[in-house]
Amino acid sequence: MTADADSEMLSITLAEGARRLRAGEITSRRLTEAFLDRIAATDDEVHAFVTVTSEAALAEADEADALLASGDAQAPLTGLPVAIKDVLMTKGVRTTAGSRMLDSLIPPYDATAVGLLRDAGAISVGKTNMDEFAMGSSTEHSAWFPTSNPWDLERVPGGSSGGSAAAVAAQQCIASLGSDTGGSIRQPASFCGVVGLKPTYGRVSRYGLIAFASSLDQIGPFTRTVEDAALLLQAIAGPDPLDSTCYHEPAPDFSAQLERGLDGLKVAAPREFFGEGMDDDVAAPIVAALDLMSAHGAVIDRSPSMPSVPMALPVYYILAPSECSANLARFDGVKYGYGARGGESMWSDMEATRKHGFGREVKRRILLGAYALSAGYYDAYYLQAQKVRTLIRREFDRVFAEHDVIVAPTAPTVAFKRGAITDPYQMYLNDIFTIPANIAGLPAISIPGGFGADGMPVGLQFVGQRLQEADLLGVANAYERLADWPTTPPVTAANVGST
Ligand code: GLN
Repeated sequence: MTADADSEMLSITLAEGARRLRAGEITSRRLTEAFLDRIAATDDEVHAFVTVTSEAALAEADEADALLASGDAQAPLTGLPVAIKDVLMTKGVRTTAGSRMLDSLIPPYDATAVGLLRDAGAISVGKTNMDEFAMGSSTEHSAWFPTSNPWDLERVPGGSSGGSAAAVAAQQCIASLGSDTGGSIRQPASFCGVVGLKPTYGRVSRYGLIAFASSLDQIGPFTRTVEDAALLLQAIAGPDPLDSTCYHEPAPDFSAQLERGLDGLKVAAPREFFGEGMDDDVAAPIVAALDLMSAHGAVIDRSPSMPSVPMALPVYYILAPSECSANLARFDGVKYGYGARGGESMWSDMEATRKHGFGREVKRRILLGAYALSAGYYDAYYLQAQKVRTLIRREFDRVFAEHDVIVAPTAPTVAFKRGAITDPYQMYLNDIFTIPANIAGLPAISIPGGFGADGMPVGLQFVGQRLQEADLLGVANAYERLADWPTTPPVTAANVGST
C-alpha cells in the first residue's frame, strides 16, 4: 500500500473503517500501523498522549485480522483504533489522571466503559493527556505537559479532555473517550473542530472513572462524525451493577433517528445562551447555523428565557469542588498512588503527600469544596446550590415541554493561546454554556459549527431531553450533513507525515 493510501486511511470514520475491514479492503494491522506512525510523526508537537501502547495495539490488531479473516468478527468495532482519556482505568496500562499523585498507578482492572469498548472490538492506541483530575479547560493543568491544538499549535485544545480531542483532530486515532463534568468533552470538541457527546447522567457506567464530581461526571465519545458518536455510545452505554447511579434499562438503538431530518423540528434558542460572554466571531457562525437549520424546516424559537441558567456556573463551582474535596480525600499516601514517607509522623507524611502530589488548581478546588461543606457554611453554600440546581432542572423541563431540542454555542470563544488565561475565574468562564446540561443531567453534543477568528473551529451545541440521545444525535446529524464542515485541520506543523 502506498503512503498516499495510508494517509487517506487516517481520515477514516468508525463506520467506514468497519465496512472496509469487513470487505477485506484494509487490514486492522495496516490501519493501526498508520495511526501509530502518525502519532510518532506528530506527537512531539501535539502532545496528545501520555502513554502510547504500540505493542499491545498491534497484537490486538493481528487478533482482529484473524477474526475478520475467519468471518467470525461479530463485534461492531472490531479492529478500529481509538484512544482513551487517562482518567479511565485500563488494566495493566498506566493511568495517571494527569496527576503526580497517580504517577505510577497500573490498574488491575478496566473501567466498565473501557471493557465494553474492548468487547466491541476496538483497539486502544494509548492514553490521552488531560487537566489534572479533569479540573480545567485547557489541558494546561496536566502535571506532565500541555497539549497543543492541531489547528494552531500555539493554542490550547480545550480541556479537560484536551488530549482526546486533539488526538482525533490530528488524525492520531479514529475516535476517543473523554469525560465531561462541566464541559470537558464538548468544549475541547468545539476547540478542536470534532464531535463530542456528553450522554445523559447515568447512561454510561462511571465504574473505573477516577472521580472528580460524582453527581456530574459522565463518560462520552469524541469522533469525526455524529454517526460515529452513535456507534461509540452504543458500545459503552448500558446498565452496570458496579455503578448504582447507572440507568438500569438497556440502551436503545442510538442510530435509530439519524435520518430524522429537521422538518418541523422545534428548536429553542434561549436568550441566556446567546447573550453576555459570547464573542462576536462565535456568534456569527452560530447565527448562520440557526439560519441554515431554519431554511431546512426547523422552527427556531428565540423567545424562551431560562433565568436560572446564568446561576449554573456559580452552582457548579460550589457543587463540583465540594464533591471533589470528598473524592480526593482518599489520596492521602496510605492506600492509593504517591505517598511521602519518612516524616516525623503519619500526619506530616499525609501533608507532604498532598502538598507534592496535587497541583495548584486541584488544591484550589479542594480548599473551595472543604470550605463550602464546613459546619456553618454548608447551609449557605452547598444546600443553597442544590436548591438552585433544582430550579435549573425545572427550567429545562419547562422548555422541553414545548420544544424538541435546545441549541446554543458550546463555548463563548474559539481556542485561546497557551498561557493567555491565568486568572482561574476567567478560565471557569469557558464553561458557561456547557455546565447547565451537567447540572440538569441532560445529554448534550458539540459538533463543528463553522469557523471564527483566525480560522479556528466553533462548536455548535445541542442539548436534548433526558435519555433521548437518539433524538439528539438525529438532530445533530441533520445539521452536520447540511453544513459539512471539515473536521481535520489544514496542513500545519502537526500535519507532517500526512502530506
Ligand atoms: N472546565 C471545568 C472544570 O474545570 C469542567 C471540567 C470537566 O468537565 N471535567 O471544572
